[in-house]
Amino acid sequence: MSRVIRKVDVAIVGAGPAGCTLGALLAERGFKVLCFDDAKRPDLLVGESLLPTVVDLMRRLGIEDRVKEFSTFKPGVAFMHRGGLRLDFLFPAGVLGKTPNYAYNIPRPEYDELLRTRAEELGVEFVTCRAKVEPGEGGREVQLAAETIAEVPQLGGEHPKLLVDSTGRARLFARTLDLAAKRGKRSDAAYFAHYEGFDAESSVDGQVVLSILDHGWSWRIPLPGRLSVGVVVDSKTAKQHGSTPEERLESIIDSEPILRDAGRGRKRVSEVMAYTNYQLISERGHGPGWVAVGDSHGFVDPMLSPGLFMAMHMADLLDRKVFRKGPAVLERPDRLLAGFARVEAEMNDWHAAWAEIIEYFYDGRIFSMYEGGSNLSKRYKKWAFPSMMEKHLSKNITRMVSGVSTRSRYGRGLVSHTSKHLIWDTEPPEHYAVMV
Ligand SMILES: Cc1cc2nc3c(=O)[nH]c(=O)nc-3n(C[C@H](O)[C@H](O)[C@H](O)COP(=O)(O)OP(=O)(O)OC[C@H]3O[C@@H](n4cnc5c(N)ncnc54)[C@H](O)[C@@H]3O)c2cc1C
Repeated sequence: MSRVIRKVDVAIVGAGPAGCTLGALLAERGFKVLCFDDAKRPDLLVGESLLPTVVDLMRRLGIEDRVKEFSTFKPGVAFMHRGGLRLDFLFPAGVLGKTPNYAYNIPRPEYDELLRTRAEELGVEFVTCRAKVEPGEGGREVQLAAETIAEVPQLGGEHPKLLVDSTGRARLFARTLDLAAKRGKRSDAAYFAHYEGFDAESSVDGQVVLSILDHGWSWRIPLPGRLSVGVVVDSKTAKQHGSTPEERLESIIDSEPILRDAGRGRKRVSEVMAYTNYQLISERGHGPGWVAVGDSHGFVDPMLSPGLFMAMHMADLLDRKVFRKGPAVLERPDRLLAGFARVEAEMNDWHAAWAEIIEYFYDGRIFSMYEGGSNLSKRYKKWAFPSMMEKHLSKNITRMVSGVSTRSRYGRGLVSHTSKHLIWDTEPPEHYAVMV
């Protein structure tokens, strides 16, 4: 008797958060999904600090309880300025609507492994293979190379109906098709490692601390038993601190008063990872027979940690807006293209909104606004109009930086108007800006 093997509907290239999330959601809808994992994930990966909106996505996937077991509860973020000013954003109850008022700091390898396990539970098949693609023929803009089809028995010698690029910064499809990318204006380098004996200076356990340094900025992310410490500096500044990532990270920590004091008793317990030129958005993230999701489509900047949210949210959007009706949509290339275009436009708007709010942190306006607001609160009673306005503004900023209303026209207008017209008696924004 011959067994009928169902053909693969969707092949996903890259088993990071974007690929596994999309795979899991599609498998749940009845698609036959094959995911290529090149098994190249290093032991240390950026993307350890999550936003509360990621918890919504974890709940959709049914994994929050398992994430809790290996992660640190994150009640909020603090911003410390080299001049001494400190802003504490603790996600207050009620302000984020239905989204939980917390997030998690995650060790990435465990988190990625869990997403893969969940996708497998829902029916995604994984194959350990570095997929090769090439420009396509016959209505496909890009296709799996013949050697990859031959190498993977699950494909049964046939090309899947749809390909997904979730290869992260490798941008496999965009590179294959020679698609340009819009680059951000910063040319930063980031170095990070895990430490013991490094003071996080969190006001509440688990709080992530971002510091504006004399040059560049840094993150401190509390993880179980260790602290993730990263520095982000201009590429030219990085070169003045040695030639290897290890030399640069340690030298920058020693040269920055905030980090030097907190890291006096530090012991590095991991290798050092380096990242450069990461502000990049593809000019096009879909075409006939393919779509890109996550970093392979675009990434704005690590400040405010939007990366994993954007990767998983895009997978969620594709699922809800394009694949909602199940595998039959794969027979309608026109519908697929129109759906992909809508999702890509929405994601580009998200990128623009993140870039806009993040700029307030780089150019110092957020600190000026905070200083102005604190002055008002000291001067006026709790129920006076200026104090109420200050609270309203804080609430809106908290919602925007949490991913709940980052794209809100009202919130963006309010923040812009306040920064231009309603700040007085404060240091100018330049005083607080991130310096190269
Ligand atoms: C300095 C820095 C700090 C950051 N900090 C944060 C943070 O605190 N919080 C946050 O949310 N985000 C952060 N990010 C962003 C975050 O790391 C990314 O947005 C996130 O990893 C994107 O997920 P992804 O699934 O799109 O890609 P990835 O996580 O990069 O996954 C891509 C996968 O594809 C695989 N792959 C590549 N090519 C192939 C191939 N040919 N065949 C098979 N597999 C392949 C890779 O091995 C990898 O497993 C940071 C980014 C930077 C640069």
